Amino acid sequence: MATTFTPKTTASVGKVILSARNLHKIFKTPEGNDLLVLDTINLDLAEGEIVALLGRSGSGKSTLLRCLIGLISPSSGEVRYRNRLVTGPMPGMAMVFQSFALFPWLTVLENVELGLEMQGVPEGERRRRALGAIDLIGLDGFESAYPKELSGGMRQRVGFARALVTNPDVLLMDEPFSALDVLTAENLRAELLDLWEERRIPTRAILMVTHNIDEAVLMADRVLILSSNPGRIISSQQIDLPRPRDRNDPAFLAAVE
Ligand code: ADP
Ligand code: MG
Repeated sequence: MATTFTPKTTASVGKVILSARNLHKIFKTPEGNDLLVLDTINLDLAEGEIVALLGRSGSGKSTLLRCLIGLISPSSGEVRYRNRLVTGPMPGMAMVFQSFALFPWLTVLENVELGLEMQGVPEGERRRRALGAIDLIGLDGFESAYPKELSGGMRQRVGFARALVTNPDVLLMDEPFSALDVLTAENLRAELLDLWEERRIPTRAILMVTHNIDEAVLMADRVLILSSNPGRIISSQQIDLPRPRDRNDPAFLAAVE
């Protein structure tokens, strides 16, 4: 593999925000056997970083994100968010799902507000903040639409608005663009990167699951690779390319080779 570019120094990365230590996750198979899905996962997500997590289907990427955000408990090991042990969902972290995970019987506005309802934010403030997030992500005019009336790209915008309305410090994304067509995915990715680069969102670290190496190299500062059966982090590679990144840049092409 030819790498013709000189790595820049990675000075922008700060202290660790989210960490996993010795994480294991064992599921029971329908036959009652133990299935080791995550094996001795150690990772740190630092301030200022976008990290991509790559791995084959079934390697445990979604399971890892769910452990990190406190939706499920690891079988052993621990997750810490800003030095606090994660034992369940907590303010500061939000997630965007591949399948959008919207409530079909709620409007766009209601779906977005839901992210705040669970945090006990009063109604008036909920409405105000939800409208702000809807505006930020380019959904204004669609407040009273229902998910089924929207395209896939617009639905995922709702998914993003519902996560961003909570002002997440850490944003976890589980294949957020993979259900979208190429152009739609590209636009949404670029907009998210703009919000991040211009600090229009308070988010200080992003962990994104993908199985698209191009997407990882276009977006991330670092790429982690998860093996399958069992899921272990077998590689951590720094991506030393300036942003915005260009698919036609020889350095980009070298990195995805
Ligand atoms: P990925 O997101 O990388 O495709 P997943 O984390 O969804 O992988 O799944 C990893 C493995 O764990 C798969 O073999 C899957 O069948 C299994 N698995 C995931 N969730 C459960 C569950 N709740 N119960 C039993 N097995 C599960
Ligand atoms: Mg998955």
